[in-house]
Amino acid sequence: MIVRKSLLFLLSLALAPRLLAAQAAPQKVFGYSDFTKQARIEAKFLAVPEAKLAGEHLKTLTAEPHMASTPGDRRTAEYVARKFRSAGLETEIVPYRVLMNQPKVVRVEAYNDAGKLIMTGPTREHVDGDRYQDDPRVTMPFNGSSASGDVTGEVVYANYGRLEDFALLASRRIDLRGKIVLCRYGANFRGVKVYLAEQRGAAGVLLYSDPLDDGFAKGAAYPLGPWRPETAVQLGSVQYLFKYPGDPETPGVASTLDLPDSARVPNERSGNQPRIISIPISYHDAMPILKNLKGAVAPQDWQGGLDFRYHLGPAVKQTGVRVHLVSQQDYQRRIIWDVIGKIKGAEYPSEWVVAGNHRDAWIYGAVDPSSGTAAMLEAVHGVGALLKEGWRPKRTIVFCSWDAEEQGLIGSTEWVEEHGNAMEHAVAYFNVDVAVAGPDFSASAVPSLKQFVRELTRSVPSPLGGTAYQQWRVKSSGNSEHRSSNAPPAPGEEVQVGDLGSGSDFTPFLQHAGVPSTDIGSGGPYGVYHSVFDNFAWYRMNADPKFVYLEEMARVLGLETLRMADSEVLPYDYVTYAREVNAYLEEASRHAADAELGEIDFGQAQAAAARFASAAERVRRRQMAPTGDLGRLNETLREVESALLNPAGLPHRPWYRHTIFAPGEFTGYSAVVLPGVNEAIDAKDKIRARQQLTVLSQALERAAATLEAVR
Ligand SMILES: [Zn+2]
Repeated sequence: MIVRKSLLFLLSLALAPRLLAAQAAPQKVFGYSDFTKQARIEAKFLAVPEAKLAGEHLKTLTAEPHMASTPGDRRTAEYVARKFRSAGLETEIVPYRVLMNQPKVVRVEAYNDAGKLIMTGPTREHVDGDRYQDDPRVTMPFNGSSASGDVTGEVVYANYGRLEDFALLASRRIDLRGKIVLCRYGANFRGVKVYLAEQRGAAGVLLYSDPLDDGFAKGAAYPLGPWRPETAVQLGSVQYLFKYPGDPETPGVASTLDLPDSARVPNERSGNQPRIISIPISYHDAMPILKNLKGAVAPQDWQGGLDFRYHLGPAVKQTGVRVHLVSQQDYQRRIIWDVIGKIKGAEYPSEWVVAGNHRDAWIYGAVDPSSGTAAMLEAVHGVGALLKEGWRPKRTIVFCSWDAEEQGLIGSTEWVEEHGNAMEHAVAYFNVDVAVAGPDFSASAVPSLKQFVRELTRSVPSPLGGTAYQQWRVKSSGNSEHRSSNAPPAPGEEVQVGDLGSGSDFTPFLQHAGVPSTDIGSGGPYGVYHSVFDNFAWYRMNADPKFVYLEEMARVLGLETLRMADSEVLPYDYVTYAREVNAYLEEASRHAADAELGEIDFGQAQAAAARFASAAERVRRRQMAPTGDLGRLNETLREVESALLNPAGLPHRPWYRHTIFAPGEFTGYSAVVLPGVNEAIDAKDKIRARQQLTVLSQALERAAATLEAVR
């Protein structure tokens, strides 16, 4: 860390005055026959976002806790609305009424085999010298969507709570019925851990942050460094968002204030809420439990960072640790506030370019999500400067500040559900969430926009010198974190753009409504995720002391929006899309062979993918030299993504309609590609696999036919 920081400091001294000169305007840009005019607009835009102002936004947004539906959250909505209005956006605060819990009582008591009390918690989050931790509005640790209850049971340690972890426990004949499952955070979405424990009859779940994953084993803990201190807890939602996200009572329907209660599905019957209790704790509180567990020694790769051997828990004729969990959750239909700011397009007003970031935080949320909001506000500042000079975009631009993302992507999901018809013409959704945790740029996107993101980062200066693209390439060639892509890189591809799974607000856009989407961020060592220590003091110390990465992210997000909104021909790269789909199909057929499911014919799907690929090649030439009715051409290009939706949705989860991408049922955050097919193979369900291959083939045929209609 120290090395990285001092290097960064020297570089920024050497290169700061040349920042804007570092990149020349590109000559040839996909989507434009002549880029000259747009290059001037972009240069004007790029000069506006300012690190200092972004830092001021961040300070204001993180001045108080602002969990969804609280007075602090309302004040941040008003701040964002004021900034949108002063930039010249047509702005409204859009309320929804949605079911959410807030904690009344959360208690954990642990007893050893002699019945002696060894822990009561949760311990209040505390380090020496942090001036944010003691605010009375800081919520007690809890899980969004946790059930209420009072249960006592024996503890079983289940590692990360992945499918394979539960399989190992089953192979050791460890019965989870009535037990309390202790899982460490990491590897999958926390809701998946609870889902799998619930399916196996557990009475409750304790989630804790092991120091091996984001604590002292990684480096110095806050306030000495960026990693998680002993008492820090990761709050978070355990909603079953892989079934559907958003308001639990209104899947597929917007929870507007006038939606009658009779149109809501009562909570007891709704499909995305756990029925068992879960409570998040720190390793300070998990330690006495782990230390007193009996039974078999945990496998080596289940061992965390604490300095004693971990055990699985129960043993023959021996009681390990019993815990008593109390969770009283106040479930209410609560009001949340999205802030929506529009700029009407001059040529194609019904084609929306949407950019968004959530605003609500579990507590202060300096990195998650306020860095995203600060960056978005400086992007809006830049776009506002263009508006004041009389510029108008060709397409409508919509900036969105989502509420209640943390509880389960609620604000974005309800808004997308409300605007279903408009979404059919929305040409892109650009998400940012954790905008800045450090200096390493990364992106995920639908395949048709991977090249778009790469190309535009060549126009944005990096605080490290050169362009954002150049720094991205340097980091990619090293060993730093990647976003995972399910297809191998194309020849000559220097930086990898990941695939979109879930865990942020692009999910309703891409996977429900079929809007081509991207997600960007700048990462670094970040151990205080979803704790009270993700605050302004931590941010200044560890992530971005001079707010220059906020400025960079403001420029990238703003440029995505401008370049898409003004493009002559929509810059969708269907050649890459087809290549990736083909790679996914090859992988799926290997997967089917490994699963020994017998004869499953991929021929029809492969033929459809080949047809899609050759149509894409032909249309690419047309996109490079556009003539004739561009409005019609663009509409057709946009329809391709919609053609990949299956209106019936995925088996068992109809809200998810995309045939190529969905969050994994057992991973949550990371994408499962060809979800219908691959999940049928996982389930060893041959009939369903065949049926889903047909669904996929039809979608690819529709996409190909759409492209073939381009004259
Ligand atoms: Zn977030």
